[in-house]
Amino acid sequence: MTINQSTNQPIKLPEITAHTRLIGLIGWPVGHSISPVMHNAAFARLGMDWRYVTLPVSAHPSERVGEAVRGVRALGLKGANVTVPHKQAVLPFLDSLTPAARAIGAVNTILVVDDELIGDNTDALGFIADLHEQGVAVTGMSALVLGAGGSARAVVYGLADAGAKAITVLNRSRSRADLLAGEMAEFFPACVFRTGALPEDIPDANADADLVVNCTSVGMAPCPEEMPWDEETEFAPEQVVYDLIYRPAVTRLLQMAAADGAVAIGGLGMLIWQGALAFQRWTGQKPPVEIMRAVALREVEGD
Ligand code: NDP
Repeated sequence: MTINQSTNQPIKLPEITAHTRLIGLIGWPVGHSISPVMHNAAFARLGMDWRYVTLPVSAHPSERVGEAVRGVRALGLKGANVTVPHKQAVLPFLDSLTPAARAIGAVNTILVVDDELIGDNTDALGFIADLHEQGVAVTGMSALVLGAGGSARAVVYGLADAGAKAITVLNRSRSRADLLAGEMAEFFPACVFRTGALPEDIPDANADADLVVNCTSVGMAPCPEEMPWDEETEFAPEQVVYDLIYRPAVTRLLQMAAADGAVAIGGLGMLIWQGALAFQRWTGQKPPVEIMRAVALREVEGD
């Protein structure tokens, strides 16, 4: 249910009409996504005859992903989001990519412009927008990124693009960290990239990190007792620790960071901002971020 933030009453979504425009979420599974309530609340707030629906697309048979992407155009959707496990698989079926999507190598947002399918990635800017909102200045900082999967690629791109001075990537599979850093170094020659193994290299890498970002899935529900960090390595009060995980809202890593006096930030803000940026690109309207935040918070708190 979508709630009006100021009156605390349910928002009545406008009726679906013959003119209702659609945005879809392509992924598998998509049943637990917060995006439909967030976007539908935003459409309702602005009185727009638009709806956001889930489009569960299985990875088997493999041609399904291509069929789904072509369907975005064929069915006249105004755009789509793409989530796990298809963020990379959709690339060959798009007509063009934004520079961010090309460098990150993954698409989370599809725009339909003049019948062309454009692949974009709003995860990177969404992460930076949330840091900005939290008062964290990225220019000139040293960052430590844990993980080298899809979200780590977006975070490293976002940090380097926003002017980070140095970025260390630690990953369980070291070779993936090397690959990620090597590719990003070509796009951002002014940024110093280092890599290492997780968890062995945590103490050294943490020594000069202003910001630590968890981009691994370790600590996510249903295993909130786990942590991608070495318990012996303490955080300093001037450090910022950001966990992309938003279920639970406060991970064990964030509990430890807060106990050490560091600034601890969970991943819900990034989720909201990547959605708000996609909303802006599809509709051309200023996204009503506060209503999106209110419904997203309600969803996570209701877990
Ligand atoms: P991927 O599957 O692409 O990457 C997973 C990463 O986690 C890899 O680096 C993997 O290491 C590492 N990992 C997994 N299990 C372990 C383990 N037991 N020990 C150490 N490392 C491990 O996932 P994503 O990058 O898409 O997502 C990662 C997390 O970020 C998820 O929790 C997701 O919900 C969250 N996320 C949040 C967003 C937001 O808006 N807040 C946006 C996108 C993601 P290896 O390479 O060795 O396998």
